[in-house]
Amino acid sequence: MINTDVRELVVIGGGPGGYPAAFYAADLGMDVTLVDLEANPGGVCLYRGCIPSKALLHAAAVLHEARAAEEFGVTFGAPTINVDKLRAWKQSVVTKLTGGLGQLGKARKVRFVQGRARFLDAATLAVTKADGSEERIGFKHAILATGSQPARIPIAPDSPRVMDSTGALELADLPARLLVIGGGYIGLELGQAYAAFGSKVSVVEMLPALMTGADPDLVRPLLRQLKSQFDSIMVETRVLAIEATEREVTVRMADKDGKETAQTYDRVLISVGRKPNTRDLGLENTRVQVDGKGFVTVDAQRRTAEPAIFAIGDIAGQPMLAHKATYEGKVAVDVIAGRKRVYEPQAIPAVVFTSPEIAWTGLTEREAAEQGLAVSISTFPWAASGRATTLGGSDGLTKLVCAKEDGRVLGVGITGPGAGELIGEGTLAIEMGAVAEDLAQTIHAHPTLSETIMEAAEDAAGHATHFLGKRK
Ligand code: FAD
Repeated sequence: MINTDVRELVVIGGGPGGYPAAFYAADLGMDVTLVDLEANPGGVCLYRGCIPSKALLHAAAVLHEARAAEEFGVTFGAPTINVDKLRAWKQSVVTKLTGGLGQLGKARKVRFVQGRARFLDAATLAVTKADGSEERIGFKHAILATGSQPARIPIAPDSPRVMDSTGALELADLPARLLVIGGGYIGLELGQAYAAFGSKVSVVEMLPALMTGADPDLVRPLLRQLKSQFDSIMVETRVLAIEATEREVTVRMADKDGKETAQTYDRVLISVGRKPNTRDLGLENTRVQVDGKGFVTVDAQRRTAEPAIFAIGDIAGQPMLAHKATYEGKVAVDVIAGRKRVYEPQAIPAVVFTSPEIAWTGLTEREAAEQGLAVSISTFPWAASGRATTLGGSDGLTKLVCAKEDGRVLGVGITGPGAGELIGEGTLAIEMGAVAEDLAQTIHAHPTLSETIMEAAEDAAGHATHFLGKRK
C-alpha cells in the first residue's frame, strides 16, 4: 500500500448511489470522503438525467393538459415557448437541488473532494483535480458508484446535430424535425417533451415494439397518445447510416422487409441504452472484476472481489435506476458498519414519466410467463374509475399479477396520470408479502386513483364493484 492518510470510507461518485451512501455512513458516525467530478453531489440523475428530464416533462404536461382542457370547454390561446427561459428554469431546478445536497453533505461533515479518482491499489486512490494537482487518499473501505454514460452507436458521426440524452436536455433549440433512435423510456420521455414544445418527432426502434420492458397492455394507452403526437413511429426498423451536414442530418433506415428509405431531420437523438463507467478507474490495480457488459461483479452484499471495495448503482448492474442505486448504497454501508444486510429486494419499481405515465413493480406478466409461474392476472380499466374520468384519464389501466396458489401479489402495473406515485403501494404490498385480498380489504380514499388498485384486487376475487371483469 502507498503511504498516505487512511480514511474510514471513501465513496467514489456522488450520484443517487454515492451521495445517499456517504450521507448515511456519516449519520452512522463514520469518517467519510466523497469524490465526484462535479462541484456538488447529484450525479447523472440530478445534472443530466431524472431531474432535468422531469422538469421538461412537467412543462410538456402543462401543455398537454391545456390542450386537453378544450374538451370540457376551457380554451387557451396557442402557447409560445421561450426556450431560453425554459432552459434557465430547468437549470435553476438542477442548481437548487445539487446545491442543497452540497449543504447537506457539509452539515454531516462529509469531506467532499472534486476530481477524478482512480485506484492505485486496493487501499489507495489518486484524485486528479481540475488544476492538474493530485491528492492521494488511503481508505479502509471504498464504495464505487461511478454510474454510467449514454451508449454510442459506431455509425453516429460527431456532430452537434446528433445528440445523446445529455445533449437533448441542454435544449439548444427546438428542432423542427427530430428523430429519436431507440424506443426505450429515455427516448420516449424526451421525444414527447420535444413534441409538446412543437418539434415534429419521429421514433425508430429495431425491436418489434416500443418499451419492451413493460407489458404490452400497459404500453398501449401511451402508444395511442404517441400516434397522435409523433410524426411517425417506426418499429422493426434498423438505422443503417447517419450523415450530418452543418444544416441537417440524413438517416438511412431499413424496415423488416429490407426496404430502405432515407429521411432528413434537423436533429437526431440517440437513446439506445447506457453503459457503465468502469474504464480508467485503475481497477486493474485491484482484484475488482468486470463482466462482459462492463458491470462490476458484486456479491449479495454489493462487495466486489476485492473485500474492501463495494460497488453500487449503474456500474453494479441492472436495473439502471436511481432508487436501486440508493438502496444498494445503504446495503453496502450497513455491511461496512458490520450489520447483517443483503441486497434482496422483492420489487424494484420502474416508472416511465410520459403522458400517460407507465409504472410497474415486481414481476411483469411476461416475466411470469417466461419463468413458467402459475399466476392469475386481474385488471381494473380506468374507464370504470370515477376519479380517472374526472381527470380525463379513462384510458388507464391497473393490473395485478398474483400467485395462483395463494393470491400473493407478485407484480403490479399501472398506466395513467400519477402511475409513478401510485406504484409505491404495489411495491410495499410485494415487499410485505401481501395477498390480493389484503389490498381489497384496505380502505382506499374516494375518489382517488388508488381505488383502482383496490378494485383490481377485488377483481382477483371476482367482485370488483365498478367492473364486471372476472365475475363468476
Ligand atoms: P450516476 O448518477 O451516474 O453518478 C455517477 C457519478 O460518478 C457522477 O456524478 C460522475 O461525475 C462521478 N464519477 C464518474 N467517474 C468518476 C471518477 N473516476 N472519479 C470521481 N467521480 C466520478 N432513473 C430513475 O430512477 N428515474 C428516472 O426518472 C430517470 N430518468 C433518467 C433520465 C435520463 C435522461 C437519464 C440519462 C437517466 C435517467 N435515470 C433515471 C437513470 C439514473 O440517472 C441513473 O440510474 C442514476 O443516476 C445512477 O446513479 P449512480 O449513483 O449509479 O451514478
